[in-house]
Amino acid sequence: MASNDAEVLEGFVRAIASMSNIDAEHAAIVLRQLLSEKNGKGLSDEDLETLTNIKQGEIRRILRLLYELRLASYRRGKHPETGATRYYWRLNVHTINNVLLSRKKAVLRNLELKLQYEESNVFYYCPLDGTRYTFEEAYEYNFQCPKCGSILEEDSRDDIKKALRVIIERLRESIKRDEMSIGR
Ligand SMILES: [Zn+2]
Repeated sequence: MASNDAEVLEGFVRAIASMSNIDAEHAAIVLRQLLSEKNGKGLSDEDLETLTNIKQGEIRRILRLLYELRLASYRRGKHPETGATRYYWRLNVHTINNVLLSRKKAVLRNLELKLQYEESNVFYYCPLDGTRYTFEEAYEYNFQCPKCGSILEEDSRDDIKKALRVIIERLRESIKRDEMSIGR
């Protein structure tokens, strides 16, 4: 998985964990362990406890959350030494790809709106303290900084717009690639 995809996925899991009263950092740690599990057998809650030092009870809550989101699934197996029934967890690549794609689309939409906002508004800033104002605000303050009284200057924000355009373009390409590989 590309590193920025892993980042998007982690951000998503952190956000859902916080909403579910689960420690977001711990959820991210468990997710990273599952992401780095390459032998395909999956990891048991016991394995995860050993790897992360997070208590098994909390690990189970995190796994249940990932399961409810369909991000992870499990298979039943036997403990190699004791023979006791164990559940081995791994990530669900297909669901993850779909989650990533819809997250990227939401981010793209936000960025497009932000760019649209930047392009259709004039901004002002205070050369002394750097505070920023929309045209309406600056007009209301008579183009004087309400904090220090300096004359406000127009700010074209070309650098921000340029950066936004670059990110938007990259995201569009990434979405296009994902859609082709998922096949829709
Ligand atoms: Zn000022």
